Amino acid sequence: MKLFRFSGGRIGLTEGSRSYDITDALGVDTTAWPPVQMVQLIADFARRTAGITRHPKAREISMGDIRLEVPIEWPNKLLAYPVNYVKHGEEMKSSNRADRNGFFLKANSSLSGPNDPIVLPELPGREIHHECELGIVIGKKGKNISRTDALGFVFGYACLIDMVVRGTEERVMRKSYDTFCPFGPWITTADEVPDPSNLQARLWVNDELRQNANTRDLIVDIPEMIVTASRVATLYPGDIIATGTPEGVGPVQRGDRVRIAIDSVGEMTLDVR
Ligand code: MN
Repeated sequence: MKLFRFSGGRIGLTEGSRSYDITDALGVDTTAWPPVQMVQLIADFARRTAGITRHPKAREISMGDIRLEVPIEWPNKLLAYPVNYVKHGEEMKSSNRADRNGFFLKANSSLSGPNDPIVLPELPGREIHHECELGIVIGKKGKNISRTDALGFVFGYACLIDMVVRGTEERVMRKSYDTFCPFGPWITTADEVPDPSNLQARLWVNDELRQNANTRDLIVDIPEMIVTASRVATLYPGDIIATGTPEGVGPVQRGDRVRIAIDSVGEMTLDVR
């Protein structure tokens, strides 16, 4: 199943070849603030979506007619692992490695959707880089999660670009500009991703392939990311973990188009402004 947001916070899902607007069937108030409707749905997903596409207020829609928005707008947290591929560490000449350095946070407000532009801040002389990553969406509350149980806490996956200003300021600041975390285009539920440890992820800038790597080469793999994070912080439904980027990072400029595609998960193209 694919779960998405569109048209001002409406909620939809795709099952097989059919897509539905389930907003009214769920009784979701799209005007409620803060916009945690998707987090609430993930927290109680099985119960709230049982038989939902046959609900009288569910409406079949065509994906071509809607404008997708960021699927999770207001998570409890957005965690990210640094230098989690050996070759990326080498290209950055960095001695950091995710297995030694753990995770960092990006501001939740940096999240943006599959049709939102990446807006570059005015920082003359500074390089702003793309990082192609897999976004892991947590489905259940958990603390001190074991490696054996870890994948059972995953709700689904999405494409995620961890945008960053290169430089020496605190990493959290350099990665937290608005629109610096394109996320989407939807959440593909974990049951539709047969082997998350074997996903090819690719990123193009203006049709030039810049990044092309497989999650099998992660230093800290997906279960271990959940183990490590949950030793520190309670994980909540809707939390997002960014896996870290492979080699091939590089600068983007205004006018570029950035495309990310991950096997079994999805694909999206973003304008840079
Ligand atoms: Mn990153």
